[in-house]
Amino acid sequence: MKDIWNEREKAFENKYFRDLEQKQLAELKQALQEEQIRQLCHNRCPKCGEAIEAAEFRGVPLDRCPGCGGIWLGPRDLKILAEKDHRTWFDTWFAQEEQAVSNERDLTA
Ligand SMILES: [Zn+2]
Repeated sequence: MKDIWNEREKAFENKYFRDLEQKQLAELKQALQEEQIRQLCHNRCPKCGEAIEAAEFRGVPLDRCPGCGGIWLGPRDLKILAEKDHRTWFDTWFAQEEQAVSNERDLTA
């Protein structure tokens, strides 16, 4: 009788560890896949997959795709370009965005 309970306990233990290992393996596989995607897409056009090239427009460094002609901007590049081109919808839009952020800050302070 004692052996049956021991076997049952062992079976539950085995199932627990098998499930845990499967979960860890799936997480590892997911992380590896994400890393591979990041490596394959690094400095590649998200639209056509061509390798992007460094370019410059009005003194602002940009990334340009030779395949589809797409232009990729860094986080502050769009704002810098907008500031160089006053009184356009571009600059107006950024001014409104900054005003909205500043108003939010005033309300939370
Ligand atoms: Zn492209």
